[in-house]
Amino acid sequence: MSSHDPSRRNFLKALGLGAAAAAAAPALAAAPALAAPAPATSATAIPKRPLGKTGVQVPILALGGMFDTINNQLLLRQALNWGVTYWDTAEYYGRGLSEEGYGRFFAKNPDRRKDVFLVTKLTPHEGLDNFPARFEKSLARLSTSYVDLFFVHGIDSMAPITPKILAWAAEMKKAGKMRLFGFSTHANMEDLIQAAVKMGGPAGGIDAIMHTYNTSVMLKPGMRAAIAAANGAGIGLVAMKTQGFGPATTPTEAEARLSAQFIGRGFTDKQARLKAVWETQGIASACSQMPSINILSANVAAARDQTSLTKAELKAVYELAHAEATGYCGGCGSICQQATGGLPVNDVMRALMYHREYDEPGLGRSTFAELPGTVRARLAAADYSKAEAACPHKLAIAKLMREAMETLA
Ligand code: SF4
Repeated sequence: MSSHDPSRRNFLKALGLGAAAAAAAPALAAAPALAAPAPATSATAIPKRPLGKTGVQVPILALGGMFDTINNQLLLRQALNWGVTYWDTAEYYGRGLSEEGYGRFFAKNPDRRKDVFLVTKLTPHEGLDNFPARFEKSLARLSTSYVDLFFVHGIDSMAPITPKILAWAAEMKKAGKMRLFGFSTHANMEDLIQAAVKMGGPAGGIDAIMHTYNTSVMLKPGMRAAIAAANGAGIGLVAMKTQGFGPATTPTEAEARLSAQFIGRGFTDKQARLKAVWETQGIASACSQMPSINILSANVAAARDQTSLTKAELKAVYELAHAEATGYCGGCGSICQQATGGLPVNDVMRALMYHREYDEPGLGRSTFAELPGTVRARLAAADYSKAEAACPHKLAIAKLMREAMETLA
């Protein structure tokens, strides 16, 4: 991949880095480490939960890899020392740069590879036939001979989970290059989880699923049923987009009340949202983007805090969940796709989410730019009235699509 690759540029830009940053990376990565923090002891360890019936226990807090892992080697070491031993990445993140950063860490610290539950993903958008070759490249970038879990990345239907891809996964497991297999999804999550359950979960080849899970979807009966079914089938569940699926409006009263409940414990609203996700025992781990030591340490503190939520805190969480059941995109993409003749409205909402909720304008723009040109051209002229009528979250879709085109195009 060239350093002129637009996705790479956007990735670096989203991280607040210029083109020179990539060139400077090796020197920075080699800088002497600061004093290491006290490692997690059994008394301060991050709690672990079983990942379905895989036999693997994972920490409830996982490190999302959508940040500059190359220039944050010290953060990776801190994460590990503090017990954040589940590391998530994807070929898509920075077109391999995120994997490369983890790889640099393992190349320099080969003895620590065994301590990490390492996950990577490949998108199926460019077809599935190239998966074997792309997977080998991922392993090379990660400086490892295996990953603990592999996800087919960001699917919104089960179409990519073909018998051929399942056979390939089984072959990779046999070869010791992949311990577990599954998919990640941020659209039509409930349907896809139920489809994996119907396949038989691990017996059908699906060991784990990573899916959007936050206060805007946690009270939906369909989501609760899907989680219960996955737990019953032994599929491990990992939450992502824990801060909301967007697009949000302005902070709500319910958000303010949630913050007020948790502020006394020293947690921000972001940590409060993680605590809300951990209330669902059927979720093994919550994957969080933690691009700074401050965010990492705050999330580690929240994860290590093993006190149950008080009644008042739970009430604040559920109030927020009720408030966000409307006004926030729930990722039920098939509804608005059908109503607009196939437009990927939920993908545009996700791009807006990166821009507005996660303060990642570069990522928002690159996600929007990934939509095929023909699709982007149709967005402006489309009629969203049927989609607005059908949207269970009552979103002003036409207005939000206009906003996306104005800010992300
Ligand atoms: S129907 Fe509404 S809530 Fe569901 S994905 Fe579409 S815009 Fe989001």
